[in-house]
Amino acid sequence: MNETSEGKKPRIGVYVCHCGGNIADYVDVEEVRKALGQEADVVVSKDLMFDCSDASQNEMIDDIKIKNLDRIVVAACSPKLHELTFRGTATRGGLNPYMLYHANIREQASWAHEGDKKGATAKALAHARAAVAYVSLAEPLERPRIESTPAVLVIGGGIAGIKAALDLSSMGVHVFLLEKSQALGGHVAELGEVYPYGREGREVVDRSARGLKGRENVTVFTGATLESFSGYIGRFEATILVSPRPGTEERIKVRVASAVVATGFDSYQPKRGEYGYGTVRGVVTLPELQSLASGRDGTLNYDGRKVNDVAFVYCVGSRQEESAVAPSGNEPPAKANAYCSRYCCNAAVNTSLSLGTKYNGITAYHLYRDMRTYGRNELMYEEAAKAESIFIRFEGENPPSVCEKDGRVGVTVKSSLLENQPVELTVDLVVLVTGMVPRPNEQLNTLLSLPIGSDGFYREIHQKLRPVETNIGGLLIAGTSQGPKDIRETLSSASAASAKAASFALKKELELEPFVAEVDNSACELSQACVKECPYEAIEIKDLPSGRKAWVNTAKCKGCGACVAVCPTEAIQLKGLGNDQVRAMIEVMAR
Ligand SMILES: Cc1cc2nc3c(=O)[nH]c(=O)nc-3n(C[C@H](O)[C@H](O)[C@H](O)COP(=O)(O)OP(=O)(O)OC[C@H]3O[C@@H](n4cnc5c(N)ncnc54)[C@H](O)[C@@H]3O)c2cc1C
Repeated sequence: MNETSEGKKPRIGVYVCHCGGNIADYVDVEEVRKALGQEADVVVSKDLMFDCSDASQNEMIDDIKIKNLDRIVVAACSPKLHELTFRGTATRGGLNPYMLYHANIREQASWAHEGDKKGATAKALAHARAAVAYVSLAEPLERPRIESTPAVLVIGGGIAGIKAALDLSSMGVHVFLLEKSQALGGHVAELGEVYPYGREGREVVDRSARGLKGRENVTVFTGATLESFSGYIGRFEATILVSPRPGTEERIKVRVASAVVATGFDSYQPKRGEYGYGTVRGVVTLPELQSLASGRDGTLNYDGRKVNDVAFVYCVGSRQEESAVAPSGNEPPAKANAYCSRYCCNAAVNTSLSLGTKYNGITAYHLYRDMRTYGRNELMYEEAAKAESIFIRFEGENPPSVCEKDGRVGVTVKSSLLENQPVELTVDLVVLVTGMVPRPNEQLNTLLSLPIGSDGFYREIHQKLRPVETNIGGLLIAGTSQGPKDIRETLSSASAASAKAASFALKKELELEPFVAEVDNSACELSQACVKECPYEAIEIKDLPSGRKAWVNTAKCKGCGACVAVCPTEAIQLKGLGNDQVRAMIEVMAR
């Protein structure tokens, strides 16, 4: 039997969820409910059809008030889905929202053990009992507050960065937009006619960038790089090195609440010999074709010769684990990208349509694995199929081969629609439809310590629930720095990131998560192991009234617990997940 810090016995309410049949079909929820009712300090134990329904939440609120519950356990789905919901329920019932534990008995018990009801029930019960042990020792927590700065830094002046700056400025936030090249626009500025706008890429960029002009709350730095970046959400300090011309350099310091990273992508660069690239004349990439065709009307020429037939080869550098080039000698195969780059089917079909309009009599062959002109872009594909475009599908394991043929380019493709019979083509140009790859940005990555996913792009906290936030509080990602996107998707993510950034900049004070490390100064023997272990540089050594001790910057701490694990004297612990709570949970699980 436990006692709270006020010397009272805890009064715990437990709510086991059926989740329709998602839990109840595989876990004996009544058995779990009855067993939990026998646990010390459990005053209420119920099983409910849907814990998250309004009726169930109201029932919990009534129980809190009528039965004087001072903490609750919800045994239901993943806390990622509904922990916030139940914190709200607890608050409405008059409890501190952290006097709650949300045990996951759906993903971790019922769904994981569908064929074993007894085992699933035992596991669900163990999880819920551990939750009871946790809340028995819970103490109310307060969210730390920090002052914020009404400005945001946007890094990268492509279409994503421009959009983020426009949105932030319209919301009344001061924006510092930093672009490393001498002009705004990124890749879009270099594109020909872009889908679905039917305008030149330069025009799309100019139109957006013009919107930035004359705004008092926007400062644009071109020819600029980030030299230093320190601080934490609400109070970052950045040094921007501006060199508009070689020789001229200026350092400008800015303070911001948050930063949006919109540094974009690189185009996949085929290896020498990959589909004849660099070894067969007339093999180019899609970006190279775009510059070849830019601004020229009448005739499309390559190497002084008129182009009549073009073969687009799709998925170059995408959806392949290894480069299509055979390794030479003992060299391992070059790594390529397993993912689909999303924009390329649309961009290739769109480019072939614009070539058809701009230059008469061009025949386009599209050698594709799967045509992914999703959504409204499917109309473009239909249009191309009706025009002078011939689509030939090949299997991933049978990529086309390319060779020089009588001064032109020979392509052999095994058509999957003709039972893999080889089709021979002779064309003037082979266009490799290359995917997007992460942009190497080592200096910036080191400065910001942004998390990078296994695909090499910046990684968000959660694809569905927190798609533009990173695990560094206040640092947001936008556009293709996060992964392949077309312009429309880039703009949406830039708007999402700017809305989130504005939510930090526009508040005078920010509330942070309370699950942060805390030092017991009387136990701290200054081993400094915590300082070395902390991945967020949140712990410093300070001269305090009790002597030289480790000190946690709560604004930087993410509550990961790395410091707790290495402290030899257990002087550092996590608020809301103390060592006593962890031990109590383990003991119950091992019972
Ligand atoms: C050949 C091709 C054709 C395409 N056609 C279409 C189309 O028709 N329609 C469509 O919707 N999409 C198309 N796309 C996709 C489109 O180009 C992207 O969606 C868009 O460029 C993404 O914009 P972004 O701002 O995220 O990245 P980017 O365009 O890459 O811009 C990033 C910017 O950040 C800057 N930067 C990078 N690092 C730093 C740093 N450390 N400090 C400061 N600045 C930095 C870069 O200089 C750049 O200006 C095409 C892409 C290609 C390759």
